[in-house]
Amino acid sequence: MKVLMVASECAPFIKTGGLADVVGALPAALSGHDIDCRILLPAYPSLQPLLSDGRQVAQYDDLPGGFGQLVLVTAEGVDLLLLDAPQLFDRPGQPYSTPDGSDWPDNHLRFGALAQAAARVALDGVAAWRPDIVHAHDWQAALTPVYLKQSDQKAPKSVLTIHNIAFQGRFGAHVLSELGLRGDWFHPEALEFHGDLGFLKGGLMFADGITTVSPNYASEILTPQYGMGLEGVLQSRTGVLSGILNGIDTHVWDPSTDPALARGYNARSLGRKVENRARIAQRLGLDPDASGPLFCVISRLTEQKGLDALASTVPHIVKHGGQLALLGSGDATIEQAFKDACQTFPGSVGAVFGYDEEFAHLLQGGSDAILIPSRFEPCGLTQLYGLRYGTLPVVARTGGLADTVIDANVAALSAECATGFVFDDVSASGIEAVLNRVFDRFAEKGQWQMMQRAAMRQAVGWDQSALAYTQLYQDLTG
Ligand code: ADP
Repeated sequence: MKVLMVASECAPFIKTGGLADVVGALPAALSGHDIDCRILLPAYPSLQPLLSDGRQVAQYDDLPGGFGQLVLVTAEGVDLLLLDAPQLFDRPGQPYSTPDGSDWPDNHLRFGALAQAAARVALDGVAAWRPDIVHAHDWQAALTPVYLKQSDQKAPKSVLTIHNIAFQGRFGAHVLSELGLRGDWFHPEALEFHGDLGFLKGGLMFADGITTVSPNYASEILTPQYGMGLEGVLQSRTGVLSGILNGIDTHVWDPSTDPALARGYNARSLGRKVENRARIAQRLGLDPDASGPLFCVISRLTEQKGLDALASTVPHIVKHGGQLALLGSGDATIEQAFKDACQTFPGSVGAVFGYDEEFAHLLQGGSDAILIPSRFEPCGLTQLYGLRYGTLPVVARTGGLADTVIDANVAALSAECATGFVFDDVSASGIEAVLNRVFDRFAEKGQWQMMQRAAMRQAVGWDQSALAYTQLYQDLTG
């Protein structure tokens, strides 16, 4: 079976978050099920060097935003179809925003073009390759099913995956004609979302299958608390909605071979983690002789991630002998709160503000626990990396975090299956309460190691989920 993945990010080429990790890893996992994937991506500056190794397989004069050519290239073992439209994608900085942080004003054209190119590949094929399934990811690709339904040609079936329903791609109604969308579909049963054009809304209305990235989030987004206004749309489509848990690339994230670590280790040599901790301490100026737990945070700094609440608990962590190492970027107020914490508690709190893939690996390798106090979390990947690295996740009971971490309650501890700490109340007092439980368990070295081993045994790869996607594709193609 042939599947065209359509996305705005794909690791290791372009990444702002978990979407990239998933799009980067899923095709390899699917290849084990005889699924031949190609990934359609915008040719951002980081992908431009690949263009000269590829070959042009299509050109379009009338995409939203003008001309674009498709270049087929194989890189890092995956077949990429790069949408080369320099007027749309050859821009500095993040994929979605200007260097000063505001959204590019023509994002509707940029991602409208991506979706329309996807629909054309799906309908006409390129280089003698035509997909059986088009799998679009998030709002940036969400018009793909709409363009497919709009065509009068026989189209392959479409799947739309929601990686985070908070990001919906909402634009003024006037862009409808610029995008070549049918004016008579501008109503609440199709493309309209409260007077605007909704990219994600439209995709959800027209996709043949809808998935999201954990079973728990699939239920949560049917409610007003988590659905972000799209719960009604999703309720009308529950027949085609399912939750398939994300996996991780267990080769890239393997503590026994990870080149970013000072010392590799496995479940039988957990003592070696201290050498990674020493490297972290060196980089962040932390006290190398501290005996309490080292907590890490690797995250976008946003309210979604609950890091505003976490910042208030730093004195509590330090008072109980813990250390905190943070890697993140985002909201300026949250960043300032952690900068202040670094100044107030030198030797106990350290941070790198920015994006650093290698340091993210080292933090997983050297920390004792990873803090993820998210207010909502579709799946979450950093807790899965934490499990794999024996770095116990401390997570809010939401979305995929609840699906993947087994709380260290009395029953789970006695059954030796606890893998982390789960709590309900994302507030300073709620986080302090769970931290108290972490400090207690950390003091019991044997018990802590038992939890680390249970965490490292947990299956966090793609095997099960690749099977679930394969099944979904098969069901759709009959
Ligand atoms: P989200 O997609 O909501 O940001 P996820 O947990 O699903 O959250 O995925 C986040 C991914 O981005 C993980 O691979 C994590 O390691 C990585 N990450 C987040 N912030 C940073 C950072 N500052 N530097 C390096 N990697 C980061």
